[in-house]
Amino acid sequence: MHTDLLIQGGRVFDPSQGIDRVMDVAIADGKIVALDAPPDAETAQTIDATGRLVCPGLIDIHAHVSRDLVSLAVDPDEAGVLAGVTTVNDAGSVGYLHLHPFRKFVISQARTDVFVFLNVSPFGEVVLPEVGFDILDEAAFLATIAANRDIVRGIKLRAIGELIYANKVDVVDLAVRIARKAGLPLMVHLGMGFKEPLSAEEIEAFITRILGVLEKGDILTHAYTDKPGGVFRLDGTPLPALESALSRGVYLDAAPGRGHINFNLARLALQRGFTPQAFGTDVVKLDEEQPHFYNVAAVASKFIALGLSLKDAIAAATCNPARMLNEQDKRGSLKPGMAADISILGYHEGEFLFHDGRAGNLIPGNVFLSPETAIKNGEIIPVRENFSKHIPYKTMMEALLKK
Ligand SMILES: [Zn+2]
Repeated sequence: MHTDLLIQGGRVFDPSQGIDRVMDVAIADGKIVALDAPPDAETAQTIDATGRLVCPGLIDIHAHVSRDLVSLAVDPDEAGVLAGVTTVNDAGSVGYLHLHPFRKFVISQARTDVFVFLNVSPFGEVVLPEVGFDILDEAAFLATIAANRDIVRGIKLRAIGELIYANKVDVVDLAVRIARKAGLPLMVHLGMGFKEPLSAEEIEAFITRILGVLEKGDILTHAYTDKPGGVFRLDGTPLPALESALSRGVYLDAAPGRGHINFNLARLALQRGFTPQAFGTDVVKLDEEQPHFYNVAAVASKFIALGLSLKDAIAAATCNPARMLNEQDKRGSLKPGMAADISILGYHEGEFLFHDGRAGNLIPGNVFLSPETAIKNGEIIPVRENFSKHIPYKTMMEALLKK
C-alpha cells in the first residue's frame, strides 16, 4: 500500500466512528487511506504520536476570521491550522456586501478551510451594533448566498436589545426569513450589553420569541452566558422555551471567548443535562499571553473540567460542528477516503486551574488538551509555539499562592 505519511502509536479518538484505541493512521495523496496500516507499509514520512490523541481535524464553529475587513477579526490560519484547527467558520463578521472581498482576498489565501455564516446585516460587524437594515436588498442577499453555496452555510443574528428599538424593520423576522428561504441554519448570539434600556421581562419575552422560531439545525451561541438575554438563569435553570427548542434539534455552542461564559452557571446547566454540541472559540484579535481563550482544545479542556466526557468533548470539536456546517460527509471523521485533516493533541494529566474570563471564576480540572500538530490534506503544520508548548493553567497550588 502506498503511504505518504504514517501517524504511529497515537490514541486514535474519533467519536464519529466510536473509535478510542492505539493504532496507526496511514495517509496518501492528501487522504486517509487506512487505520491500523499493515506493518510492511512503505511510507515516506512518519510522525510518532505516542501518548497523544489523534483526532479528526478540529472545527471551530464560531470564529472571526475576516482579517483586514473587520478590525477585530484575525487571519483564518491564526484561528485555524496554527491553532491545531483545520476548519473554521466565520460567525457573522461579514454581511453579503463584503462576501466577495472576503472570499477573494482572505479565504482563497488561507490554508485552513473557511466557511461563513453571513451576518443578517449587509455590513456584518464592520460597525457594532449592526447597521444597514434600511438599505438591505433581500433579493441581492439571497443571490449572494446562491452564488456562494460552497462556503456560505448559515445566517448569524445577534439577539441584542438594539434590534428591537433601533431599527424600523423587524430584524428577527428578517433573519429567520432569509435563513428559511436559503435553507440554511440560523446562529443566534446570546448575551446583551448591561446598559440596554430593556426590562428583565422585555428581555425574556424577546429571547422566548426567538427560541420559539428556531428549528432543527439552528444554533444558540454563547449558550452559557450570564449576561442579560441568555437562555439560563444563574442557577442553571433554563428559560421555559429552551427545552422545546432543544427537543426540536436546536444546538448549543459554548463559544466562551473571554467574556461569554460563567463557569458556575455552565456547571449547573450541564448537571441538568444541557451539554454543548460545539466549542466555538469566538476568536477575535489574538492575545499572545492568553491563548487558552482562543483555542478549541482548551475550550474542550474547560468543559471536561465542568463534567463533560472526553468523548462528548471531542465530538463537540469534530463531528458535531461538521454536521452544523452540513459537511459531515467530508470532515469531522477519520474514515478512510476522507481528506487527511487531523489534529494531534497533547493529553496532559495533572492539577489544572481553568479561568472563565470576565465572570471571574476559577475551576480545577485534571485533564488538559493542547494542540500540537495540524495535518491539513496530508500536509504537516506545526501549531504556534505558544499554543502547543504553553500550558496556561498553572498547577492549583502555584496559582493559588500567587493570588
Ligand atoms: Zn462572535
